[in-house]
Amino acid sequence: MSTLVVVGVQWGDEGKGKIVHLLGQQADLVVRYQGGNNAGHTVIFDGKHFVLHLIPSGILQPGKQCLIGNGVVVDPVALREEISFLESRRVRVKGRLFVSDAAHVILAYHRYLDCLREDNAGQGKIGTTRRGIGPSYSDKVGRTGIRIADYLNPDVFKTLLDRNLREKSPLLKRFGSLEQIRRDVMKKYESLRRFLAPYVTNGPLMIHGAMERKHQVLFESAQGTMLDVDFGTYPYVTSSNPVAGGVCIGSGLAPTLIDEVLGVVKAYTTRVGEGPFPTELTDNLGETLRQRGMEFGATTGRPRRCGWFDAVAVRHAVRINGARWLALTKLDVLEGVNPLRIAVAYRVKGKLIKEFPSDRQLQEQAEPVYEDLPGFEGSIRGMKHYGQLPVNARRYIERLEKLVNSKVAMVSLGRSREETIVLDSKFPWKP
Ligand code: GDP
Repeated sequence: MSTLVVVGVQWGDEGKGKIVHLLGQQADLVVRYQGGNNAGHTVIFDGKHFVLHLIPSGILQPGKQCLIGNGVVVDPVALREEISFLESRRVRVKGRLFVSDAAHVILAYHRYLDCLREDNAGQGKIGTTRRGIGPSYSDKVGRTGIRIADYLNPDVFKTLLDRNLREKSPLLKRFGSLEQIRRDVMKKYESLRRFLAPYVTNGPLMIHGAMERKHQVLFESAQGTMLDVDFGTYPYVTSSNPVAGGVCIGSGLAPTLIDEVLGVVKAYTTRVGEGPFPTELTDNLGETLRQRGMEFGATTGRPRRCGWFDAVAVRHAVRINGARWLALTKLDVLEGVNPLRIAVAYRVKGKLIKEFPSDRQLQEQAEPVYEDLPGFEGSIRGMKHYGQLPVNARRYIERLEKLVNSKVAMVSLGRSREETIVLDSKFPWKP
């Protein structure tokens, strides 16, 4: 029996989908513990291409069970669409996918409120996906949210819905009358409720049962540590806790039962949406990385901002997650880039800062202090062993390990599952 948390240690889009899919071969149960259908995991294998938003990518491994934990916010419409998509691609979902009865739902008015906040925020816009995720989490913390267990009970649901609509009515006016919004929510309610019911379970009990049966359980984060609501670049963050500590809150796994944490990290940095990004490249090289790395959002298609590897941010993330291991992705994108720059500290108004600051002004004004390493030439795709990598690629990896204080357990050199080098390390979840 063992548990592994796979967590993004940058601003998301690190390539977690591929790594979870690869390691999921060994898992019996794969659990998502935070976020909503704003995430997008791309998984490519055997010539097939899947983008998943809400359902753990473990669903693509035949025979594995998957759980959407209580820390996730679930849009029943989006869930039904994703299940239909998977079934249309011949992936069996019934009997394999489960949803915690304590997860909160996203309803039409959450999406309206998301748009309203973004439209009215002007300069302070977060760049959300406008799918209602933030407002649903706000309701959860504000104790007005609706949990799946309550959604399944029509009497309780209708009472809570009416109370929420009344409370939010001043804000919702511009989207139509309350009666109309209520009708929108209720129109699909009966069919969604019937559809959802067979998937719903007691999440912590399911995980506990898996542990008792000595099963392997993998927890996958959406987004990344620098987007964590507590440890990221607040307020330009997501509304939940992607960090490994979020696993316990978002699934019910006891803290004493986390065995290993693997951080997924890109060989450079990207971020989507607004907010501080000290190593951002706004020149031609930034564009080259975007095109080569196909850095366009899996959920929204938005171009991702690209930049150099930021060892200050990743060291902060490794520390918070206790990520003893790293999966380094997209090294192939750096082929021919010379020199390779790594931010090892920041400078603000002449002062040197070695650790990631919480102060938003410092984050915005941080100018990276770079260390340059020689680049590597030629194609590395298709290489199967660490020793085959050009010496400068290996020097880059080994320098990153030192700077961020973690061990690289695997290196990804392409989009497909097969294009991965597993290092001969003590990492216990070798694919
Ligand atoms: P996630 O949310 O962390 O799963 O990341 P995404 O799926 O949104 O983005 C990662 C993108 O990078 C996807 O299109 C992957 O297919 C792709 N990808 C993952 N690993 C590699 C790699 O090693 N090399 C290249 N070129 N692409 C990769």
